[in-house]
Amino acid sequence: MFKNILRRLTILNSLVFLLIFIAFTTILYQYIDFRLFDKIDYAVQLQASSFRVPRGAPKPPPKPPDPRIFLLLQSTDGRIIHPGPAKIEEISNMEEFTLMTNPGEIQTKNYEGHIYRMVSIPYPDTDNSLNEVNGFLVQYVIAVSNVDAEVALLTNLLWITLGGGIIGTIAIIFAGYFLAKHAMVPIQAAWEKQQQFVSDASHELRSPITGIYTNAALMLKHPENNVEEESYRLHTIMKESMRMKNLISSLLTLARSDANKSDLHLELINISEVIENVLEHFKGVEELNGISLISDIQPHLTVIADKERLHQLSVILLDNALKYTQAGGQIHINCFESNKNVIVTVQDTGIGISPKNLPRIFDRFFRADKARSRDSGGTGLGLAIAKWIIEKHGGKINVESELGKGTTFTVSIPSHMNHKS
Ligand code: ADP
Repeated sequence: MFKNILRRLTILNSLVFLLIFIAFTTILYQYIDFRLFDKIDYAVQLQASSFRVPRGAPKPPPKPPDPRIFLLLQSTDGRIIHPGPAKIEEISNMEEFTLMTNPGEIQTKNYEGHIYRMVSIPYPDTDNSLNEVNGFLVQYVIAVSNVDAEVALLTNLLWITLGGGIIGTIAIIFAGYFLAKHAMVPIQAAWEKQQQFVSDASHELRSPITGIYTNAALMLKHPENNVEEESYRLHTIMKESMRMKNLISSLLTLARSDANKSDLHLELINISEVIENVLEHFKGVEELNGISLISDIQPHLTVIADKERLHQLSVILLDNALKYTQAGGQIHINCFESNKNVIVTVQDTGIGISPKNLPRIFDRFFRADKARSRDSGGTGLGLAIAKWIIEKHGGKINVESELGKGTTFTVSIPSHMNHKS
């Protein structure tokens, strides 16, 4: 699949480059062509229109601005003469040369291996004797310029462009391939990550389903048993169902976050109150586990946030602290304002995380101890969701931990005041 996309992207990239290259060289060629001939055309037109039959003592016509320009005069009976000053060596038959010359029109003529740019202009005084030179009645003045140099330059430019085009096309295909390959890296990584996610999710869902199925099948084997006798199996089915429910809801949250579909309901909220509420919920659990929960929450701290998501975040961090702290341990929750940010820390004296695992704990489905996490109802998705929530709120989450000593999570969210400024 990726090979196919890579091929298509390479073709597309190369085509775009090629079109830009062709457009650029065409414009350049046309511009040079125009600049070269525009000057010559102007000069020949000027030269032809400013010619007047000499009066009095014969004198040569004014020197043309470009020495390559010469004049030819055409009489009313079709004869051609060159008024001087020098002879034109390169044109053997002037009548033949001026054949098919359309008056007023700039023309390019290829004659005896040379290329000329020329214009023929009607002589303004055809109706009186001012147009006569030695019995030659001037009807048209033809100004001609040899443009061999310009044409040679343009031909060279064309060859260079063509050569450059061939080399450029090869380079463009390579560049297109390289760019396509480069663009594919994050796509491929995202695809592989997604594949991994789906495979992990299926794997995780299989175990509670197996648990439910096995226990239900065992119950069916003893239809004579009453509810009390099957209470252990019923309890397991309920536990596995609950695990599946949690897993599915976490998967849904992450899938929506990936698709950028989970919009936050942002409002001004009292984060101190949210944390106090969560602590209330955990009151019974800490006593049950023999862990002391110590909190220091600065009141009335406000942030612009989604209340539900902040609640979820606090639950994830506190739940983890309780899950991974042994009886007799302590959990400290602090909430205060610092540098226009609200800081929440959850510190425990639990099992800690090894330096090797520390960078991976925010990865989806990562669990340092799978069995332990599963036993305590963990899915390996809590911290991935926590990280997503924080980032969506423009905040940061940090973790410090020492194996066997404990872990501290520090969350920082821009405070309401910071939002305003
Ligand atoms: P889980 O559902 O397994 O708790 P999480 O994403 O919340 O999934 O956490 C990922 C892993 O990070 C856990 O399995 C655990 O190994 C480690 N972890 C998270 N919080 C703590 C903590 N407070 N103390 C020790 N380890 C922790």
